[in-house]
Amino acid sequence: MSSLSNVGQVKAILARHNLQLLKGLGQNFLVNPSVCPRMAEACGAQACRGVIEIGPGIGVLTWELAQRAQKVVAIELDQRLFPVLEETLAGLDHVELVHGDVMKLNLRRLIRDRFGGGPVCVCANLPYYITTPVIMGLLEGDLPLTSITVMIQKETAQRLCAPPGVRACGAVSAGIHYRSQPKILFEVSRGSFLPPPKVDSAVIRFQIREEPAVQVKDEALLFRVVRGAFAQRRKTAVNSLCHALNLEKGRAEALMAGAGVRQGARAEELTLAQLAAVADGLYELETGE
Ligand code: SAM
Repeated sequence: MSSLSNVGQVKAILARHNLQLLKGLGQNFLVNPSVCPRMAEACGAQACRGVIEIGPGIGVLTWELAQRAQKVVAIELDQRLFPVLEETLAGLDHVELVHGDVMKLNLRRLIRDRFGGGPVCVCANLPYYITTPVIMGLLEGDLPLTSITVMIQKETAQRLCAPPGVRACGAVSAGIHYRSQPKILFEVSRGSFLPPPKVDSAVIRFQIREEPAVQVKDEALLFRVVRGAFAQRRKTAVNSLCHALNLEKGRAEALMAGAGVRQGARAEELTLAQLAAVADGLYELETGE
């Protein structure tokens, strides 16, 4: 099975099972044999209670994860792939297949029931159409995770890695840096997939922080402030925040000044510490504490 991820083998398996790949499910399968071992090695499977994989496809990455992890739970939405997976992962009793949509599953319950509460890591070649919501769901869900190692579009990976205070940073990357330390591990060319997508990919690892990067009085409020400040990127952070949170301009200006933000700054110029100070200032305004 380890030689599975070469193009001839993948095509032969798909033909034998009479399977057409579905673009709508982001089915670009890996056919470069060097990628899965590198991903499985980098995700740190040995250091936790097991690995959750999202979208095993025909099992090329799953097999590599199973060589390193105590347990692998692989969540796949496409029921047609289950007979293939039963064949390619035969004999690997510590691999469990779960049929479902990762966006709808209760992952906290899954980690409790299948991994005794964790901690676990996540490793996946993600379907492109749900990259950002999956990553944010994993990071905002306060799940017992040590790391998330995923293959995503190269440009998206670069954007998500941009720290607050840097031009390419957006609300999502600010949230990512709050919870984790992201790092692009290596790039993967479009020719490594069947069928090849229009863009190149990268493997990115989010190492979950033991404590968030900054302390705030109300975490939900911090996320509201971050989303509000970045909501209208062409406006100043003050104007964007006023509009998104329905704040009086004078109050928003006072909050920004109190956080040490220069007048006229755009959201991407704000550091996480400044965003946290704005959120705490707003908390004091709203609660009087
Ligand atoms: N891991 C395989 C590989 O690397 O060759 C397949 C990766 S392919 C990019 C994405 C996989 O995610 C497909 O198998 C697809 O059916 C599955 N998938 C798509 N949407 C999903 C969802 N919402 N929940 C779980 N799996 C999903």
